[in-house]
Amino acid sequence: MQTRRSFLKFGAGAAAIGAFAPLAVNAQSSDIKWDETHEVVIVGSGFAGLAAAVEAGKLGAKDIVVFEKLGVYGGNSTLNAGQACFADTDLQRKLGIKDSAELMVKDQLASGRGYANEALLRHSAKLGPYIYQLTKDCGCVYRDHIINTGGTSATRSHQVVERSGAGFIRPMLKTARSYGVKTKIRHKFEGLITAADGSVLGIKVRKGYHTDHENSGKLINVKAEKGVLIATGGFAANVAFRQALDPTLGDEVGHTNARGATGDGLIAMLAEGAMPIHLSFIQSGPWASPDEGGYGAGFSLYNFPHSIAIDRNTGERFMNETADRKHRADLEIQRRDKDGKPNPALLIAPKHEAQKDPSMENVLRYNVAWEFDSVEAIAKHFELPLQPLKKQIDDWNKYVKAGDDPQFGKRMNMSTGIYLTAPFIVQRLWPKVHYCQGGIQINTKAEVIAAKNGKPIPNLYAAGEVSGGVHGVSRLGGCSTPDCLAFGVTAARSMMKA
Ligand SMILES: Cc1cc2nc3c(=O)[nH]c(=O)nc-3n(C[C@H](O)[C@H](O)[C@H](O)COP(=O)(O)OP(=O)(O)OC[C@H]3O[C@@H](n4cnc5c(N)ncnc54)[C@H](O)[C@@H]3O)c2cc1C
Repeated sequence: MQTRRSFLKFGAGAAAIGAFAPLAVNAQSSDIKWDETHEVVIVGSGFAGLAAAVEAGKLGAKDIVVFEKLGVYGGNSTLNAGQACFADTDLQRKLGIKDSAELMVKDQLASGRGYANEALLRHSAKLGPYIYQLTKDCGCVYRDHIINTGGTSATRSHQVVERSGAGFIRPMLKTARSYGVKTKIRHKFEGLITAADGSVLGIKVRKGYHTDHENSGKLINVKAEKGVLIATGGFAANVAFRQALDPTLGDEVGHTNARGATGDGLIAMLAEGAMPIHLSFIQSGPWASPDEGGYGAGFSLYNFPHSIAIDRNTGERFMNETADRKHRADLEIQRRDKDGKPNPALLIAPKHEAQKDPSMENVLRYNVAWEFDSVEAIAKHFELPLQPLKKQIDDWNKYVKAGDDPQFGKRMNMSTGIYLTAPFIVQRLWPKVHYCQGGIQINTKAEVIAAKNGKPIPNLYAAGEVSGGVHGVSRLGGCSTPDCLAFGVTAARSMMKA
């Protein structure tokens, strides 16, 4: 067994050789000088972390702490488009949409292509109504409009009025604090502290950490009485890590994530023997544009149902514009010029419909999309073959009239009466790395599973994008928000034995 002296020595050395070399030691709690003790310790202030904080507060925890390494709260959850899939809600019923949790799970299983975890999906779907209400109780306000995110048999992506995840994060942070939750920015999780039997005693935290200064701040030992929840998100911003897992995700593919999405919690848990799952299943977003620096999904998402995506070599469609994300991103990235260089496809929308999306003014102003008066002008500007493009648009308008797309089998219910006529709004499409389906394996109690025996690692919980295997090969749009919230809530219930 290591003594406190050897533990501290090891900890300092590990920090020097790399942020996430294993810091954990086989120690007794009494061997360690604890700088802080908390009932519930949460790492990460996104959906998963804050949902856990709110739920633990509701369940009566008196001393909850949330550590966040950046100088702002919310991670990817704040950048999020504010969309969350829920089935059979009051809003869907009001809009005449028939849906069920069963159908939602079925859609997710199909998108997972045989790799999704049905038990975890069902668990999350079962908690859907609770989560929907929880967010409203926190003060989140939903729009009166539901979005078709693709790959679903019913339109079910609800969106907060801010059209941004901040519309969830701000009220949830406020609610968490109303329960006395301590929220600490610039506190970077450095590793787990475990006992001889492998159970988690606490964590090492770099207090006063500043991004880009790896050794900034002071290392402290934080004891967790009821458990540690790792909710540190995905790893899309860790280019070396993601490229090692999927060599196709090279420099020509950017990413949409916050800078904190570097896989810290995942790597630390792997170092402690947690079960890795589906790490190479990394999703790229088919709605992204090469003409803007970040996410840029709102406008294309609005337009996909009534627009056509055109290959610039052929002037013709090449995909169902509302198929699931993987299907579309895989096809988009194949659009190349004769030298094999990226030749981004065009999404052509009718202005009369595109202008109903509030972001049109901005995408035009910042050259993320352009307006054209005629098909000829599009063909000339983007050097497309004119006749095939004209024919494609004529054919598409026939599909709109018939309510049937014989070319790619697109669901046409959101294109009814929306003909593709001039003036047109055109944007380019090129996928960006967006979401990590893989992570460490959890069960329906949000307990982290050990690789060596398939059993839970005592006192260690994970929720949100750091966990993996839930969605299989491809996650459907709008389905991470409810997943992160559901497993955050579940982790809190497990820690509180509720
Ligand atoms: C631009 C964008 C838009 C999206 N839109 C949608 C959408 O509309 N609907 C949907 O369902 N999904 C969407 N997603 C996916 C979804 O938002 C994420 O999967 C989800 O927010 C992840 O939540 P999380 O709580 O797991 O992690 P995050 O929200 O990323 O939070 C993790 C937090 O942990 C912090 N952290 C990391 N390492 C450490 C450390 N060592 N110490 C302390 N803190 C640390 C991070 O800084 C971060 O703040 C979107 C993703 C992006 C990037």
